[in-house]
Amino acid sequence: MDLILLGAPGAGKGTQAKFLEERSGLMHISSGDLFRAALRQGTELGMLAKSYMDRGELVPDEVVIQMIIERISQSDCAKGVIFDGFPRTREQARALGEELQHHDRKIDYVLYLSVPDGVLLRRIAGRQTCKTCGTTYNIYYFPSKRADVCDGCNGKLYQRSDDSMETARHRLDVYFNQTRPLIQFYQEHGNLIEVDGQREISLVTELMLSSIGMNGSNGQKPH
Ligand code: AMP
Repeated sequence: MDLILLGAPGAGKGTQAKFLEERSGLMHISSGDLFRAALRQGTELGMLAKSYMDRGELVPDEVVIQMIIERISQSDCAKGVIFDGFPRTREQARALGEELQHHDRKIDYVLYLSVPDGVLLRRIAGRQTCKTCGTTYNIYYFPSKRADVCDGCNGKLYQRSDDSMETARHRLDVYFNQTRPLIQFYQEHGNLIEVDGQREISLVTELMLSSIGMNGSNGQKPH
């Protein structure tokens, strides 16, 4: 099964994708995480992506598409993928559909995490991530017990450089202009499911799992 998690920056895609991965056994692929990993490794791709990420702009389609196609051709993606942060443009959506078709696969569901526009800015600008284990918090909505320290592993929490208020505003504009039209695109393809992203985190996970026919703690699809 292949899924897309669609939603604005700050809608909770990354958080939900991690839970869905644990429960479904599908592989979570985040284009943003792949770029950040490439940057940490100091690769050419990482340097190129950084110049766009720092400004809150989208990395060019051909670069993202190639990176994702390479990643999903690896054997750990054979059972299915949860796409997080990709596709973000119609061109990316078309390319993904074509690539999956070559492998007799298709996007089975698009889970659209809806969150009112007015909430998104605080969700992004309040976000903190653990340097050690990657758990995310939010200083307004879901703070860690001790300031700047991860509850789970005591790692140090940091703010992503592109989560500053100014860049966050621009990323939202980019989302409204370039990515939000994908809601209609997938509605027309008939496989979009809207989930209320303002519900409690674990409830959102349950709603998503049941809407794709995966219930129960082992995440197996019932026969
Ligand atoms: P994210 O972690 O998904 O919020 O992505 C962080 C940044 O990485 C974005 O603001 C873009 O600069 C870049 N990026 C991630 N995914 C894509 C994509 N599918 N298309 C273009 N740029 C992307």
